[in-house]
Amino acid sequence: MKRIYNFSAGPSTLPVEVLEKAQKEMLDYNNSGMSVMEMSHRSSFYDDIHKEAKKDLIELMGLSDDYELLFLQGGGSTQFAMIPMNLLDKEDVASYLITGSWADKAYKEAKKFAKPEILASSKEDTYTYIPEIKEEEMDVNSKFLYLCVNNTIYGTRIAPEKIDKLTKPLVADISSNILSEKYDYNKFDLVFAGAQKNLGPAGVTIVALKKGLIKEAREDIPTMLSYKTHADKDSLYNTPPCYSIYITGLVAKWIKKMGGVEGIEAINKEKAKLLYDFIDNSKIFKNNIKVEDRSLMNVVFVTGNDELDAKFVKGAKEKGLENLKGHRTVGGMRASIYNAMPIEGVKALIDYMKDFERENR
Ligand SMILES: *Cc1c(COP(=O)(O)O)cnc(C)c1O
Repeated sequence: MKRIYNFSAGPSTLPVEVLEKAQKEMLDYNNSGMSVMEMSHRSSFYDDIHKEAKKDLIELMGLSDDYELLFLQGGGSTQFAMIPMNLLDKEDVASYLITGSWADKAYKEAKKFAKPEILASSKEDTYTYIPEIKEEEMDVNSKFLYLCVNNTIYGTRIAPEKIDKLTKPLVADISSNILSEKYDYNKFDLVFAGAQKNLGPAGVTIVALKKGLIKEAREDIPTMLSYKTHADKDSLYNTPPCYSIYITGLVAKWIKKMGGVEGIEAINKEKAKLLYDFIDNSKIFKNNIKVEDRSLMNVVFVTGNDELDAKFVKGAKEKGLENLKGHRTVGGMRASIYNAMPIEGVKALIDYMKDFERENR
């Protein structure tokens, strides 16, 4: 068996230990005589999986008792609509920081249900930095400030120190850097993350929100799109994505074993530093992101020559370093080095970059 180093932005690499455990339990989960995929979501076997995954995620995120954590479907993208549907009335204002196309999509979706405003945008500079967050410029009636904390496509992130300074109610997309470094998630009214970037397989979306927001929820929206529906039934109103939740639960256990978020953060910072340091000292590779806004999870780089970029990506694949092509809207390269990417993978990438540089200068 050969495993590649998979730098995909999502779905993305999972810890081998987690996959092996799932493999072991594939045909017979815990003496149930069946796979987790085959069991009723009302069974006691599944109930334990569900509760344990929820408990571990709450613990890892450090959420207080004021929060409810939900397992939903429809991906991060469905949250773009659920947030305004549940939290805003037609005439309500909310403020959006446009730091990339995911934030922009969220803003456009909100326009269908309320009156969102753009607080600031870095679109003119192809999202190479995080605009300064001036809360004093928010509409006085704005209900919340919406942020995309890690911009998967552009390789930027809003650093924890910047978030710590904010005072307004915050709603955030944390799809691509949940549990990658220490953020005070209790500062947010609501956060959400599609699991397939940094947490597990596609199919489940984690939403953590203040319980008070659930009580206030609107009644004139579809049942399945109401947070209240899912909160009232502990995310078991209808069939949840059981297998994705099971794997996400295994990943949560793995993070705990790695020393929790602090343990993972130390490794993530080391991985990112190795790669950025190499790029910054390279004669042919460049990263044009404002240094303080650089993502720890998605490292973008270019040679400045499309043909050379293509040659790089092709050669990398031959070395077992896959999915390094940048997003179709920006080109160049992108190495997604999520929690589950071992440091050896980053070192193998840098070794290849060194060889490539020597041969193509
Ligand atoms: C991938 C991604 C999304 C979209 O997630 P889906 O689950 O595919 O809908 C939203 N936000 C961010 C930051 C992402 O990286």
